[in-house]
Amino acid sequence: MPIVETVGPKTARSPLPLPEIAGDNALRRFGALPTPSLQWNAEVERETAPLYARVKNVVPPNEWPFFAPYVKAINALKRERNAVILAHNYQTPEIYNCVADFTGDSLQLAREATRVDADVIVQCGVHFMAETAKILNPDKTVLIPDRKAGCSLASSITGDDVRLLRQRFPGVPVVTYVNTSADVKAESDICCTSSNALQVVESLGAERVIFLPDEYLAKYVASQSKVKIIAWKGHCEVHERFTGDELRQVRESDPSIQIIAHPECPPDVLAEADFTGSTAHMIDFVRQRRPKRVVMVTECSMADNVQAELPDVEFVRPCNLCPHMKRITLPKILDSLLHMKEEVVVDPAIAAKARRAVERMIDLKR
Ligand code: SF4
Repeated sequence: MPIVETVGPKTARSPLPLPEIAGDNALRRFGALPTPSLQWNAEVERETAPLYARVKNVVPPNEWPFFAPYVKAINALKRERNAVILAHNYQTPEIYNCVADFTGDSLQLAREATRVDADVIVQCGVHFMAETAKILNPDKTVLIPDRKAGCSLASSITGDDVRLLRQRFPGVPVVTYVNTSADVKAESDICCTSSNALQVVESLGAERVIFLPDEYLAKYVASQSKVKIIAWKGHCEVHERFTGDELRQVRESDPSIQIIAHPECPPDVLAEADFTGSTAHMIDFVRQRRPKRVVMVTECSMADNVQAELPDVEFVRPCNLCPHMKRITLPKILDSLLHMKEEVVVDPAIAAKARRAVERMIDLKR
């Protein structure tokens, strides 16, 4: 079923204002901790050796002396703060493999966020993910190591836009991708991720659905469903840069190569793929099928993280970097735990409405 209509702003929006944070409230509640030693020495090398073993295929030995002191200090500080680190699949290998307590895609992290028994959650991902963690854990302190870690999809739409859409399409349910602000989630009937978008759309039993804000994910869902989709013109700046031409060239150079793509890619890219799925599904594909050579058409760090686990698989470029995900670094995570910043806050009334939309999605999986 084709998309019924694509709506959205006619001109590019200026970036949304920086997200709300809570000043130094968390620092006042928890207090600062002294900066630990960041010296590279034999003791640090010995203590971090098991962690280096996890990333030795993707982190060169001459880089480990820089990372290791931070890894050791962050893991000690997590215990001291009773904190956990949630890391998205697009985080760099030293974060994903060496300091994270939970890793995964947006849905996996959202679900883990509801189960954690900790006072503090450090979200190594982008701001909407930290907001989602806060929405689901209103009593916990949620930190993001860099408040400027945004997302082109999340900044493509506002709560006001959703209210206008509801006026224009009265009675049509609104499904919102988790890559949105709390304000947008609060105006939605239910959230979805790229793992469950089709299941969520079909669960509503509606003839038409407003699907926000990723136009390409909306098109992918529309190609699999009889439900008529009204889409928004939001795009992921990382996935929209791939082209069908570059993948055809890769295929011509090696017809046996496996090409697996994320559904935020444009349709001509997905047409070249052997498999389309969320980051979690892409990882499962490589784990289970063990292709000899594979292109993961998504953010570059994900191939590095799977490569760390599966050294026998050859990961072929192209891939693109997400500048927002790459704002999160070990020094910023350390600073976040030492000085309790940046604390993510969500207006309680908005959080309550947004929670309903996120929990409705999570309940579908149960
Ligand atoms: S990869 Fe795309 S969707 Fe994900 S955070 Fe970056 S800009 Fe947003």
